[in-house]
Order: sequence, then structure tokens, then C-alpha cells
Amino acid sequence: MSNKPARTLTFKCTKCAKSVQVFLQKVSACSHIQPYQGICSCGEIRRYATGDKDVVESFVATGEIGHHH
Ligand SMILES: [Zn+2]
Repeated sequence: MSNKPARTLTFKCTKCAKSVQVFLQKVSACSHIQPYQGICSCGEIRRYATGDKDVVESFVATGEIGHHH
């Protein structure tokens, strides 16, 4: 039917191994990814995204969504 992304996902924190809930972020219409971001109770920010590989990698690394049109 549709490939609408889930609004929240859960991951394990890379620092303390607790569960971290990440939330789908609002993005501009020309974005090539669905970015998620959340923060663990230990303070570690967890980012995840699906979509264009290069944009996903730069988002996960920096928290910014780069465009190169
Ligand atoms: Zn943690």
C-alpha cells in the first residue's frame, strides 16, 4: 500500500546498551531520507535514517541533512 515510515523506532544505545526511542524528524520536501533522532537517558544522541545512502551517512555522522543537487 504505502511505504510510510514509522513515527518512532527503538534502538540500543551504543554507550550504555539501554533502549533509546528515536522519533521521525520533519524534513523539507526535497529531502532524500527519513531521519530519526532520539536521546538516551545517559545523554547519548542516537540518529538513524533510511533513504539515500550518502545523505543517510552524513546525517548519522553530523546530524545535518546535506543536499547536493
Ligand atoms: Zn545510553
